[in-house]
Amino acid sequence: MLVLNADFRPLSYYPLSLWSWQDAIKAVFLDRVNIVAHYEKAVRSPSFEMQIPSVVSLKSFVKPTTHPAFTRFNVFLRDRFNCQYCGSPDDLTFDHIIPRSKGGQTTWENVVAACSPCNLKKGNLTPQQAKMFPKQTPYAPTVHQLHRNGRLFPPNYLHDSWLDYLYWDTELDP
Ligand SMILES: [Zn+2]
Repeated sequence: MLVLNADFRPLSYYPLSLWSWQDAIKAVFLDRVNIVAHYEKAVRSPSFEMQIPSVVSLKSFVKPTTHPAFTRFNVFLRDRFNCQYCGSPDDLTFDHIIPRSKGGQTTWENVVAACSPCNLKKGNLTPQQAKMFPKQTPYAPTVHQLHRNGRLFPPNYLHDSWLDYLYWDTELDP
C-alpha cells in the first residue's frame, strides 16, 4: 500500500512509503487519509465491507526529508548499482575507500558500491596504494538526486496502480 503526501508525491521513495493494509484502514477510519486507488480485494467483517486501498494520500502535508538516510540501498542507488571501479553491475558489495583499518569512516564520502572482485583486489589498500580510484567522487546525495537515479530502475514489482504516483513529476523534473 503506497502512501502519498498531501501533494500526491510518495512520502519517501527509498524506502518507498508503504503501509500495511491494516494501517491504511485504521488511517481511513481516523480520517487522516483519502483513498486514491483500490485493490480488487475487499475486507469483510460482520458490520462492514471495504475494498483494500492500494494508494492513499494524507490529508495534511508532511514536510519531506531533503537529506536521505545513509543506507546500503541508498549508496547503491547513488552509484546506480554499478561498481565504482570497473562499472560492473554484478556481485555488488560496499567498499570503504579509505579502509576502516586505516581510519576510514562509514559515511557517504567514504563508501562506494564495488563488485566483489574489485573489492578483493583493493583489499586493505588506499586508492593511491591500489591505484584504484572511484569513477565519481562519492557525495551525500539529495533526495532529488536519488529520485533521478531511481527512475532508471522501474519498480516492476510494484502494484500497477502505484506507478502513476511514482513518476508523475517526471516532466516537471527533467
Ligand atoms: Zn568492479
